[in-house]
Amino acid sequence: MSGPEDPGADEFGEIARLFRPLTGGQAGAFDLLDDAAVVPQRPGFDLVITKDAVVEGVHVPVGEAPGLIAQKLVRVNLSDLAAKAAEPFGCFLAVAWPQGFGPAARGAFAAGLGEDLRRFGVDLLGGDTVATSGPFWASLTALGWVAEGRMVRRAGARPGDVLWVSGTIGDGALGLAAVRGEVDDPEGDLAERYRRPTPRLDLRDTLRGSATAAADVSDGLVADARHIAEASGVRLTLDLDRLPLSAAARRWVDLQADPAAARLKLATGGDDYEIVCTAPSDAALEGFTAIGEAAAGERVEVRAGGRILDAGAGGWRHI
Ligand SMILES: [Mg+2]
Repeated sequence: MSGPEDPGADEFGEIARLFRPLTGGQAGAFDLLDDAAVVPQRPGFDLVITKDAVVEGVHVPVGEAPGLIAQKLVRVNLSDLAAKAAEPFGCFLAVAWPQGFGPAARGAFAAGLGEDLRRFGVDLLGGDTVATSGPFWASLTALGWVAEGRMVRRAGARPGDVLWVSGTIGDGALGLAAVRGEVDDPEGDLAERYRRPTPRLDLRDTLRGSATAAADVSDGLVADARHIAEASGVRLTLDLDRLPLSAAARRWVDLQADPAAARLKLATGGDDYEIVCTAPSDAALEGFTAIGEAAAGERVEVRAGGRILDAGAGGWRHI
């Protein structure tokens, strides 16, 4: 950890107190006392690196608890590694403390971060802390290993492949609506799903064994499927009648006047942190639901309730 000092705090002491315990004693982190870290090579593996930032008021609600911000930061990054079938092991942190973000808030951030890093087996290898006059933001660079040449890319889907998605879709978008008080959430499950999504690291072996292309669902199922279609040079059809829904999401859909439009809203809402992937038609993916197919062409064609929405052209048309 190095960089511009916060004039109001002893950065060196703060890093030692808040962040050194999060290194897990990793030799290459040098107790966060050096200018840089060393990541030893792992023969037979590729180093997979991803980076995502969280900004208060953009990716998390204004006034979100610092520990929850830290956990969202960890989880959105590990979700990217999960989609690549990589095994996370380390990370680098940059965090900008806003004015008024005192020792208690900083401690809560570090505590939330530490809790999740331990949960997912990730060590902090280095980073930087700065002060800002703007909103709170933090950025993580997450490192993982994958067997050499075996990272699951967005490119790789082939005509004839089946399109799959893990878990359930729509709880992230409904969770954000619940946090805003726009959707009933008596048990708080939807808000929890939005605030602390679970990166699908448990699906690594399935992806590595079967997937031809994959992405995590952060922007929305339709948008992330489109990323695969574009990178792979295929057309993906997506049948929203097969969309896997949680009990809470199903209840919400049943209350809407147009169920097809409601499903489309869930499929474009984002923040699910599930994994969308393609696999050869003879593969069965445990933990996933088949929701469509890949064909020659381009773009994503969305179907629901006997209608087609061509995501490229926009607007519903009947089939
Ligand atoms: Mg992603």
